[in-house]
Amino acid sequence: MAILPIRIWGDPVLTRRATAVDRITAEERKLISDMMDTMKAADGAGLAAPQVGVSKRIFVFRRGEELLALINPKITKREGGRKVGNEGCLSIPGVQGKVARHVRVVITGRNEKGKVVEYECEDGDEQGRAATCVQHELDHLDGVLYLDKLVPDTLVWVIEALDEDGEETVVLEETTAEEVKEAYKQRRLPPNVHIPDTLRERIERPESQAARKPIKPKAVKVKA
Ligand code: ZN
Repeated sequence: MAILPIRIWGDPVLTRRATAVDRITAEERKLISDMMDTMKAADGAGLAAPQVGVSKRIFVFRRGEELLALINPKITKREGGRKVGNEGCLSIPGVQGKVARHVRVVITGRNEKGKVVEYECEDGDEQGRAATCVQHELDHLDGVLYLDKLVPDTLVWVIEALDEDGEETVVLEETTAEEVKEAYKQRRLPPNVHIPDTLRERIERPESQAARKPIKPKAVKVKA
């Protein structure tokens, strides 16, 4: 089991088109197993190889309770029109925004054993946001981030706060992609942004001792 460090926005690997995998070897299988561990540890819905610094066309994702991997994935069907929903990204922690995605897609590729597989993914009670998730992850393989597809004026910082009963909650503060980019570039995030302390440490003080510790996810309580 290995938890890999997740690359943060500004890292050039995130905006590069990843290359197809022509042979699935022990190296790819180990990468997929580590990506599964990393996604679970970060409490994510999906994770693409470029997010752990590997520019290969591989991602892992959740479909309901299942944890699945796809190599050289391709969407073969898009159905049910598009719906606008909230998205976040493990590589752009502390912000979320709205994106229009197809509600139902069929995606094909190979699994970690090299077998050709096809998955129907649908947003809904049964599978969670599986359709949105595979579209988001496939974009990562093309070097595209959800910020490139935002519904205008929907980007927000997720800020920790206390409600009237003194309970921990989060509030959403409007921002822009430029402001977020600048904050990451300057390595200065807003105070109380809703990200794990160890992740903040890694972004703001990458050389520090604490920045090398594994990241424990916080329970996310997003009030939309
Ligand atoms: Zn992402």
